[in-house]
Amino acid sequence: MTVKRFIAGAVCPRCSEMDKIRAWRDDDAEKQYRECISCGYTDEQSTTVQAQPTEIPTRVNTPHSSAPQAEEMVINFIPNPGSTKH
Ligand SMILES: [Zn+2]
Repeated sequence: MTVKRFIAGAVCPRCSEMDKIRAWRDDDAEKQYRECISCGYTDEQSTTVQAQPTEIPTRVNTPHSSAPQAEEMVINFIPNPGSTKH
């Protein structure tokens, strides 16, 4: 059974009409649909993607960047200007 519900405050990306978007989901297809009753715009999203947030950055999985370190090393390699003049 599919229940189409209006999304309060939703703006259609095509016609910019507010409160014209209806949304429903198909659990068998694991998809969520949206449609605009004003211009006929339709959109679909996978509900399985939303259920698995894998892009959360944490200190564990964020690799420490090596770029700033390399820059510091270059600076450290600059010899003392006073000793190279003569
Ligand atoms: Zn529309």
